[in-house]
Amino acid sequence: MSEPNAPKPPSDAAPAFAKRSLAAQALGHVDPVTRAVVAPLHVATTFLRDPDNGYSSGFSYARPDNATVREAEAVLAMLEDAAAGALLFGSGMAAATAVFTALEPGDHVVAPRVMYWGLKRWLNAEMPRRRIAVDFVDMDDLPALERAIRPGTTTLVWIETPGNPLWTVTDIAEAARLAHAAGARLAVDSTAASPIHTRPLTLGADIVMHSATKILNGHSDVVAGVLAGARADAFWERLAAIRSGGGAILGPFEAYLLMRSLRTLPLRAAAQAASAAELARRLQAHPNVSRVLYPGLPDDPGHAVAARQMQGGFGFMLSIRVRDGEAAAIAAAARVRLWKRATSLGGVESLIEHRASVEGPDSPCPPDLLRLSTGIEAVDDLFADLDAALRDA
Ligand SMILES: *Cc1c(COP(=O)(O)O)cnc(C)c1O
Repeated sequence: MSEPNAPKPPSDAAPAFAKRSLAAQALGHVDPVTRAVVAPLHVATTFLRDPDNGYSSGFSYARPDNATVREAEAVLAMLEDAAAGALLFGSGMAAATAVFTALEPGDHVVAPRVMYWGLKRWLNAEMPRRRIAVDFVDMDDLPALERAIRPGTTTLVWIETPGNPLWTVTDIAEAARLAHAAGARLAVDSTAASPIHTRPLTLGADIVMHSATKILNGHSDVVAGVLAGARADAFWERLAAIRSGGGAILGPFEAYLLMRSLRTLPLRAAAQAASAAELARRLQAHPNVSRVLYPGLPDDPGHAVAARQMQGGFGFMLSIRVRDGEAAAIAAAARVRLWKRATSLGGVESLIEHRASVEGPDSPCPPDLLRLSTGIEAVDDLFADLDAALRDA
């Protein structure tokens, strides 16, 4: 057995079943001892050495590796077509920051101007200390991306598509082409797309990141993050080393819950995307909504690219701009009865949030914007609740 913390490629013998079939059965794992169809939860932190002082099982200590974590990683690698496998971290931020931590002083990064605000804040705080320069560009403007890339110096292009909270779409294949032409890697925060709607590695990306806290887990009860890799190259090995050396692996209980959730991910993602599309259509005709931001709408600026690179829907996230401005938006969010006023996204319960209040004065988010994370409630109930809250605005 190789290093216990080395990324594991998915089995070559995986049968040609649909991803939905493989996810439903968590790749069909059957426990060899009990014949249980659900893999056991492995909680041990330490493992017995063999008489010859080796570790024949490949497990020695729980910080570099855990069997329950591996089960969930195998399903995620299958969903993302990740030849190098997947690495689970204690949060989405731990996964994302591992990628930037793997860079060298003097490297240059291009990242989106509008992106997950917590990561942008971290980049602004931490990258200068490591002498890594970051340029933020509008990633739906490919000539701007091309101008920002410095051949030979840019080592990473980071994109997020659809991008939180405006749901701007970035052309993954084109971004990969531009990055690779300059000798850089392309990493994609695909949290809002999920592997059900987009598989960035099949479009040329090198690394995919998800906040697994969101739709991958989907039940608002686990914080987790994942990286999936196209190639088990030196950079991927470095990400694995950063995780095990820094102690950032996901805990087994969280991995177990995530594993349970992944079995129903294809169903949840399809249902949530269908409801989001229906809400986007109905809200577009609402007298108190000035604009709906959702790549599934035919007149959305990102629709053509989204239609090429997304399948089975356009995701569960949309935003609306409230006609009468910021105070009316906050007032509408205060009046909902079914939607929950809370941060986060991707859960089975629908959430509404006034993003500008969260992101603060530097936010590129318009002040009249409400972010909607569509859950699995009846879509008529979701619309009626929003309609009533907006009409009183
Ligand atoms: C939530 C989120 C993150 C951060 O993930 P955590 O699990 O909260 O650390 C990163 N990117 C996007 C797009 C997110 O929505």
